This record gives sequence, C-alpha cells and structure tokens, in this order.
Amino acid sequence: MQPKNSASIRIPMGDFDVYLLSDGYFGIGDPQPILAPEIAKENVHNALKELYLPASDYEIPITTLFIKKESQNILVDTGEGYHDPLNAGWLQNSLFEIGISPEDITDILITHAHRDHIGGILLQDGKRRYPNAQYYISAPEYNFWTSEERDFSESKLSSFPTGEIQIQTLEAIKNDLTIFEPGEVLFSCIRTEAAPGHTPGHIIFHVFSGDQSITHLVDLVHSSLLVAYPEWGTQWDVNFEEGIATRKRILERCYLNTTLVTTCHLPWPGIGYIGKTEQGWQWIPKAQSDPYSIRI
Ligand SMILES: [Zn+2]
Repeated sequence: MQPKNSASIRIPMGDFDVYLLSDGYFGIGDPQPILAPEIAKENVHNALKELYLPASDYEIPITTLFIKKESQNILVDTGEGYHDPLNAGWLQNSLFEIGISPEDITDILITHAHRDHIGGILLQDGKRRYPNAQYYISAPEYNFWTSEERDFSESKLSSFPTGEIQIQTLEAIKNDLTIFEPGEVLFSCIRTEAAPGHTPGHIIFHVFSGDQSITHLVDLVHSSLLVAYPEWGTQWDVNFEEGIATRKRILERCYLNTTLVTTCHLPWPGIGYIGKTEQGWQWIPKAQSDPYSIRI
C-alpha cells in the first residue's frame, strides 16, 4: 500500500487554531559530524544510547506550523518543496488534509532561509507555489543572504552553501516581502525574538492568544541529543559558538518558565517541554491522547 505521506495535528488556541504539519523527514546517516562534530565518537554513542536514539541511519523530521485565524491562513516556513523528493515535501498533502490549498495561504513567515524552510516557496519551474501569499523575514536574515560577503568562518562546515536557492527565492518574492526587526509582533498573535547562531537572522517566536501561549523554537535544537548536550553543537549553525550560547540561554529560560514549546526537527510532532536532570536539560514530549488534536 502507498504510504499516506501527510500528517497534521490541531492545537485549539481560543480565537484561532494552530496546526503542526509534517513535511516528512530526511536521513543523515551517522549523526556525526553534523551533530556534535568535535566530540569523541564513544561519548556521542554513549549519549545516543542513553537517550534511546540511533547511532546510524539517523533521521530528522521536518515539521511546519500553520495558523488558521479568521480570514488569515498563516504558514510558518514551507518545508523542502521539490528539493528532496525521497522522504520530504509532504507539506502540500498535510495542508490538503486540513482543507487548505496553496491559493488559500495569505501569509508566510520565514524563520530563516535554510532550504528545509524556504524550499517549498517556489515550484521547480521558478513560479510561486502560494500565489496569494505575503512574505515576512527578519532584517538580519535578509541582509545575510543578500549580502555579497556571507561569513561562514565561524561555522564547522567543510563546504559552505552558495546561497543560490536563497537568492533565487528572495528575488522571486521581493515585491511581496516585508522585512521586520526581531521583537516585532506579527498578525497580532506572533511575537518574534532573535535567536542568532543557527543563522544570523534565525528567529524563534511566541504564539499568543489570551492567557495561552506556545513558543516555537524552530531550529534552536535539531535533536534531543542537543537538548541534553547543547554545547556539542551542530555543523548546521552558521556561527557554531553563538549557536551554543543561544541554545543554552533559551533552553534554560524555557525550563524555568515551564514553557510549552514546538520545534521543527525534534521527533514528530515535536511539541513538549524542557526538563532538567542532574547532567543537564532533557526533552519531555507533551503527553497526548487524541492523535489529531492537542489541548493546551
Ligand atoms: Zn531546519
């Protein structure tokens, strides 16, 4: 039987609904060197074992967020689109599952311009997938990707991205693009916050409605391994050390405030809390009974 290739979970938040939508996942094989690039293999294997995570054939989900609010249909990031047909690019199916077609999307918030977040903006022929959408990106993120001198000297990658997808995509949407400063409130329900390191303009944000709120950590952590060992870092961070500092600072705050968080790359559906053990922080998935809906 053909797999269904879609998944959605609704989170009612008073006047509007938030959805977690699956875009599928991608495999990275051995988790190193992408995760914990400079840590001894034995230590990483012990930690993976401790967390019941695989030491090979490691997979990373891609989860997007969608907000259905009165006349607005707000999509946060767009997944891989056509770029990774192997196990990703499911977002269209997941939107279809909740009755939303590409024409219905009114606004798209770009948290940062990595391919698994902006890859779904354009179709393979260069046309826009969401013909009626307005786009939003933070000023530092826009400035980084459109600058002639993108600085990857603080990253642990062996080869640096060319920026081709980013430039092509930002150019294609420039007439409908709003550039905001981190900290600004968008759509009267999203307060943005700077979380630099993963990329210079990487933002996290807080969705609020009355006394309810969810903090979307986006790419602050790519694995529960990095919740437990945030200082081990990832090659995917443009600034490795800044990524670690931002990760630790925000994880601690989420722990202290018992913040309900969502994430793009923690095990589906990636919603939970940051706990603490004697060694450090710990990913605590939110208890869920109804597979299609989460009460907060
Ligand atoms: Zn990502």
